[in-house]
Amino acid sequence: MALVSEYFGCNAFDDGVMKERLPKDTYRSLKKTIDEGRELDLEIANVVANAMKDWAIERGCTHFTHWFQPLNGVTAEKHDSFISPIGDGRVIMEFSGKELVRGEPDASSFPSGGLRATFEARGYTAWDPTSYAFIKDRTLCVPTAFCSYGGETLDKKTPLLRSMDALNQQTMRILRLFDPHTDVACVRTSVGPEQEYFLIPKKLYNQRRDLIFTGRTLFGAKPPKGQELDDHYFGTLKPQVDAFMKELDEELWKLGILAKTEHNEAAPAQHELAPIYTQANVATDHNQLTMEMMQKVAKRHDLVCLLHEKPFAGVNGSGKHNNWSISTNTGINLLTPGETPSENAQFLLFLCAVIQAVDEYQDLLRVSAASAGNDHRLGAAEAPPAVVSIFLGDELTAILETLEAHQIYNPKAADQLQLGSDVLPKFPKDNTDRNRTSPFAFTGNKFEFRMVGSSQSIADCNTVLNTAVAEVLRVFADRLEAAPDFREMLNHLIRKTVREHRRIIFNGNGYDDAWIREATEVRHLSNLRTTPEALPHFLDEKNIRLFTSHRVYTETEMRSRYEIALENYVKTIRIEANTMIDMAQKEILPAVTAYAKDTADAALAKKNFLADIDTAYEAALVKKLTSLTASIHGDVLALTEAVRRAEGIRDITARANHAKDSVLPIMASLRAACDEAESLTAEKYWPYPTYAALLFGVE
Ligand code: ADP
Ligand code: MG
Repeated sequence: MALVSEYFGCNAFDDGVMKERLPKDTYRSLKKTIDEGRELDLEIANVVANAMKDWAIERGCTHFTHWFQPLNGVTAEKHDSFISPIGDGRVIMEFSGKELVRGEPDASSFPSGGLRATFEARGYTAWDPTSYAFIKDRTLCVPTAFCSYGGETLDKKTPLLRSMDALNQQTMRILRLFDPHTDVACVRTSVGPEQEYFLIPKKLYNQRRDLIFTGRTLFGAKPPKGQELDDHYFGTLKPQVDAFMKELDEELWKLGILAKTEHNEAAPAQHELAPIYTQANVATDHNQLTMEMMQKVAKRHDLVCLLHEKPFAGVNGSGKHNNWSISTNTGINLLTPGETPSENAQFLLFLCAVIQAVDEYQDLLRVSAASAGNDHRLGAAEAPPAVVSIFLGDELTAILETLEAHQIYNPKAADQLQLGSDVLPKFPKDNTDRNRTSPFAFTGNKFEFRMVGSSQSIADCNTVLNTAVAEVLRVFADRLEAAPDFREMLNHLIRKTVREHRRIIFNGNGYDDAWIREATEVRHLSNLRTTPEALPHFLDEKNIRLFTSHRVYTETEMRSRYEIALENYVKTIRIEANTMIDMAQKEILPAVTAYAKDTADAALAKKNFLADIDTAYEAALVKKLTSLTASIHGDVLALTEAVRRAEGIRDITARANHAKDSVLPIMASLRAACDEAESLTAEKYWPYPTYAALLFGVE
């Protein structure tokens, strides 16, 4: 077998390939574009495109595509072949700089939230040279951003790139204040997303319409064994899973994706993959590719990979842990506590910026993780609640509290207090990451945001984080630049942040109900439990101001995104409701009725056989099943009516609320009756595989 070090990145047009295949000056210009965002001229693009094409053709490619992430959360591609006719019915293979730099997919069916009238349906894609081109399915894929002709963004990547710029600008101001001669040219956000998923046997998946249409089970009685023994977590891998993971790693490595850790998760059939962190936009592309590869490779192993946030009721859902930090182009992580007093002061200032940003924009972070699927996960087993708070660890919290307290209680001491190693001891990194219940945890040199759903793009949460922190740093930089005494202002800002934003810091158990009460009643943190409750805050005035002032979104873009997100929510629930109606009518009701009838027949036969025989069991069962079918029938009618009524509601916000308040409760009631019927019906009558089979069926 080939060595990993030999095939790693063999399907990526990465730095090594560029260096090898591009003329020196072309390589240098391209590097400038990648590192400093310089514009690339067409001549250079032509040379790069040609080199990419040759490289791709040598690897069996016949097509290229601009690969992008439209707002429906998946990735999109439109394949064009390299062929170009030269007369005599012959062709050559061509790929021009123009084709590399810009594409025009016919994009009228991508969600645009009314941004793109259909007569100008052709949005365009623009090459993102900071994320390497790669080969997938014999196609050269060029990572791109996707915009409308008016220049409004229609994808998740452009705002992310803009937010990285915003954070870079403000962070550089701070760094220059600490060291006017700093050799740092720019900073970037680093992201490492841990991805959870389920693997189930394909042949069972194919028997369940709910999984096929919605990605989650809409029915299913609890199995006798769930995850209560915790025997799956980090357990030995089953051979099928092991083979899947090995092949997945290989596929990802070929693409230059740094897949690092693979293990079993807490729920049966649940697993996790963590890559080594990279620059945020690259991490986002890689995470989308990882999800796609997981699904592809699973099929080759007769498995199906479920990326839904809550594929099974009653066991853990799947999330994505978004590990986030800021680092300089010289390789310094700004969230690492420093060695010297000045480094420590700088670290504390960045720490405070994150604390303030998360407190002031807690609603936006929640919005970034809002989806119909994730609503089932947040606040349930082993998932953070909908309340955003920060875990800092006792030691760091104590340090901040001490710094703050000195000013209030003992101004003299405060004067003497230096932000130095005496105040901020070097603390062992490992002590900080033992609270897994916090939605936003400091883990020694990075923050881990755990709210994101497993199927969501990480672009949104990182866009929020970058922009919110950039805004706080902007305010800090303004004040520091204007202050006559830098140190004094620095002390002041740190104390002020602790004083005004300590409510967001919580080191206790986030799963505890008492915490939710304290958070909402005493600390007045927001508790946006559902997507329709959370999303409207995206358009709060302060949030519009945040994004527009840093040029991450225009107000029009925000309004369109709001609509698209709500539409997504409404559509998801409509599909689920219709699937439930379908399954209940065509599969569940007939099955339960057949079983009731056969039971009644059996009782009759027994009576015929022996007149005084006891048929109490059959009678009770038939009665119970009949009362359940009546209730199922009633719910099906009510659900059908609720779905029909939704069609008449024009306002999207009202329609989303209708889905939450009128459709979801009937779905829950229908499910409860069906699950009870399942638990009473003989297995051979049941029309599709049970939870036990799905969760424990992989060999
Ligand atoms: P766990 O959270 O399971 O204990 P780790 O903390 O080691 O695991 O890493 C989880 C993820 O965080 C990995 O993807 C890792 O690459 C990423 N990570 C580690 N350091 C950083 C950093 N400075 N910035 C961003 N991500 C990081
Ligand atoms: Mg982690």
